[in-house]
Amino acid sequence: MIPIEEAEKILNNITCRPETEEVPLMDSLGRVLAQDIVSGMSMPPFNKSAMDGYALSSSDSSKKFKIVEVIAAGSVPSRKINKGECAKIMTGAMVPQGADQVIKIEVTEEKDGYMIVTDEDKNVNICYLGEDVKPGDMVLKSGCVIRPPEVGIIASMGLDRLKVYKKTIVGIITTGSEIKEPGQKLESGQIYNSNAYSISAQVLQTGAQVKYAGIVGDDIESIGREIENLLSETQMVLISGGVSMGDYDYVPQILKSLGVQLHFDKVAIQPGKPTVFGTRADLLIFGMPGNPVSTFTIFEVFVKPVLYKTMGFTYTPPVVKGIMSKDFKRKRTVRTAYVPVRCNRVGEVEPVEYHGSAHLSALSEANGLLKVPRGVREVLKGSTVYVRQI
Ligand code: AMP
Ligand code: MG
Repeated sequence: MIPIEEAEKILNNITCRPETEEVPLMDSLGRVLAQDIVSGMSMPPFNKSAMDGYALSSSDSSKKFKIVEVIAAGSVPSRKINKGECAKIMTGAMVPQGADQVIKIEVTEEKDGYMIVTDEDKNVNICYLGEDVKPGDMVLKSGCVIRPPEVGIIASMGLDRLKVYKKTIVGIITTGSEIKEPGQKLESGQIYNSNAYSISAQVLQTGAQVKYAGIVGDDIESIGREIENLLSETQMVLISGGVSMGDYDYVPQILKSLGVQLHFDKVAIQPGKPTVFGTRADLLIFGMPGNPVSTFTIFEVFVKPVLYKTMGFTYTPPVVKGIMSKDFKRKRTVRTAYVPVRCNRVGEVEPVEYHGSAHLSALSEANGLLKVPRGVREVLKGSTVYVRQI
C-alpha cells in the first residue's frame, strides 16, 4: 500500500501526448484551447463613443454648440469638430477628429440645430483605440478551458475556427455477476449498476467521451476479452469492481496477463484502497473498487486530473475554505480519508450522515469532500478546513 501522495506523484509523472483538431467557434464551449490567441488588431479598433450624446472639444467654452452631423454606429465621421461645434453621436460610433469628450444626452438640450449643456458631465465617455487590446497582445493562452467569455473573446478577434485538444475516449466496463442494468428486473442477491452511470457522468463532465462496454460477470476470460477490446478503441479504460481481496476479484491478474504494467494496486486512501493503476504504451487503465462512493472518490482524486491532462488541461480541484460546525472523529488513521461534507453559504462545514463506501445516497447530501490526512484522528468544531467541491 502506497501513500496517496506517492500515487499522485506516479500519475503526475505520466506523460500524455494530447492530439489537436480544429473546430468551429460555435462548437468550442468546454474544449481546451490548443493554440495561443494573439491579437492581430486593436480593441477598440478606433476611438469609440461610450454614450449616446454629443462629441465636442472639452476645452471649448462656447455657450451652445452647432450640431454639424449625426454619427451612427458603423459610420465614419465626415469632418473635424471645430470651436462652437459638436456632432451628435451614438454609442459605439467613431469619435470625430477635434473631439475629446462625449457629453451624454441626459445632460443636454437640443434646439434649432444647436446643443446646450444643461449639467456637468464629469466623464470623458470615450473608449480609446487599443485601450483593451493592442496588436500582438496574447489574449488567450493555449491550455485554457473555453468558457462563454473565451468564446466571446475569440469571436471579438474575428476567428471563426480554432485549434483545440481532441476529446479523450474513455472506455468503461463494469464487472460483477451480481450487477444488473437499470430498467431490468432485479433477482434476489442482485443490485443495480450505478457505477457505470456515475463514472460516465463524471467523464462527460470533463468534456471527454465515453465508450461503454456494459456489464461482464466475474469470469477471467470474458473480462479479459472486454478489456482488450476497449483498449483497442480508447485511450483510457476504467474498470469498476473486481479489484479487492475476494475470490472473484480478478482484475489485477487479468491486467497483468494483458501486458499492462501496474504502477500501484493499493493506496492508503479511504474509501478506495484497492485502486489499481496501470499503463500499456500510451493507454491508461484504472481498476476502481466497486463500492459506489469509492468509485466516485477515486475518479475525483486520481482519474480526473490525469484525464484532463490527456486533453491538454492542468486540473486544479476547486476548493472552498470553511469552518467545521461539528467534530469529525475516526478510529483508524492509516489512510487519508475523503469525508463527504456539506458546506453552507456562510462557510460552515458539517460531515453528512455516511455509513461507508456503499452509501451512495449520502453523496447527494454532500457538496464537498474533506481530506483528512493519514495520522489525523479528528477535525474539531471551529477548525478551519479546505473542502474540495464536488
Ligand atoms: P467489488 O469491488 O467488485 O468487490 O465490489 C464491491 C462492492 O461494490 C460490492 O458490494 C458490489 O456489489 C458493489 N458494486 C460493484 N460494482 C458495482 C456497480 N457497478 N454498481 C453498484 N455497486 C457495485
Ligand atoms: Mg465484484
